[in-house]
Amino acid sequence: MNILILGSGGRESAFAWKVAQSAHCDKLFIAPGNAGTTQYGTNVNIKVTDFEGIKALVLKEDINLVLVGPEEPLVKGVHDFFLADEQLKNIPVVGPRQEGAQLEGSKDFSKQFMERHNIPTAAYRTFTKDTLQDGLTYLATAGLPVVLKADGLAAGKGVLICLTLEEAQTELTAMLADAKFGEASSRVVVEQFLTGIELSVFVMTDGNSYKILPEAKDYKRIGEGDTGLNTGGMGSISPVPFADAAYMKKVEERVIIPTIEGLKKDGIPYKGFIFIGLMNSNGEPWVIEYNCRMGDPETESVMRRIDSDFVDLLLGVAEGNLNEKEIIISPKTAATVVMVAGGYPGEYLKNKVITGTENVRDSIVFHAGTSMDGNDVITTGGRVLAITTVQDDMFSALQQATADASRIYYDGMYFRKDIGFDLL
Ligand code: ATP
Repeated sequence: MNILILGSGGRESAFAWKVAQSAHCDKLFIAPGNAGTTQYGTNVNIKVTDFEGIKALVLKEDINLVLVGPEEPLVKGVHDFFLADEQLKNIPVVGPRQEGAQLEGSKDFSKQFMERHNIPTAAYRTFTKDTLQDGLTYLATAGLPVVLKADGLAAGKGVLICLTLEEAQTELTAMLADAKFGEASSRVVVEQFLTGIELSVFVMTDGNSYKILPEAKDYKRIGEGDTGLNTGGMGSISPVPFADAAYMKKVEERVIIPTIEGLKKDGIPYKGFIFIGLMNSNGEPWVIEYNCRMGDPETESVMRRIDSDFVDLLLGVAEGNLNEKEIIISPKTAATVVMVAGGYPGEYLKNKVITGTENVRDSIVFHAGTSMDGNDVITTGGRVLAITTVQDDMFSALQQATADASRIYYDGMYFRKDIGFDLL
């Protein structure tokens, strides 16, 4: 069968790597892809939100399955677009419809969902411009620190952790009255601050049954020792030692099953991935957020631990028989180190020639923000490459991924050398 992956980051590179190995896969297309995805399939220069362009490609190349990487096309309704089109409606899309994607697209929607289905999450209230005064009063009674979240998608920047009441009230006013994050902050969720260690849990579902994929921990801050600005993600590790069988049983019983059952009760058909961002507080899981797609850079580590045919699982999602499929997960440790452009996550350097990828010894170099310039591979994004390795033990995995990252060079390159070492 012919498969199309939508997206262009490290996540989609890891998907492409895995999909290309499947016995089911004849031709693989990636739209728009990056300089690395051409190793696994054909790049087509179409934006992930250009639904008409995607339609033309799907019909021209006789695509039989579409795997959506990022949230934007899902929240904008790419799956609904397929279902509403006579020529596309029988072509399965892995990724939820617009309503299910609201789990990520609206924080208020996801908080209400969790409340309705008794899923453990931080206490919260939602405010709009009209209820700003109530919000300011509420903040005076809420404990500190307090978390303010723009309701809509804000490219990972819409969450503020405020340490003082003054800061919280100023920010709430800026978000609601001055549209600090535009339409995304026309509603703001004010949430209790949770302490603990974060964990990313991934579930694949056909809307009825589900499979739990390997869990991962990601590293969001730019600086070593988890310091400095937030980024899209600087590395990941899987498995996570504290997420042992007893802990994952709690996660399954208290979060995963109620989530799948909740979607069913609410009449929301959901075929795709659910990324559950958890806070582990003293051994208890609390949901911080849902995403309607896989995480990046977690996917790079997760794909390397799935030993079964990934397309077979995707077909289970598409055809509604996921319960009949087997998922084989490697007991080994996968580690990913993300290499970023100089200056990232602020203004960053671009168009720098990348050398040395052939020197990498025991990792896969997943491309993210890269393009071809003649025969050169150049940097075009903030996150440039994801270096992923699998080893028998965690120390070797961390050491190998870090060592392999140091074998690559471009002007201004940077990566964290401490990914995962806090877990040893
Ligand atoms: P992203 O898509 O980049 O993961 P987001 O904008 O969707 O982020 P959240 O994941 O909800 O927003 O929050 C971003 C980060 O803020 C979390 O990963 C976590 O570190 C922190 N955070 C969010 N909510 C809380 C909370 N209630 N208590 C403590 N920290 C929190």
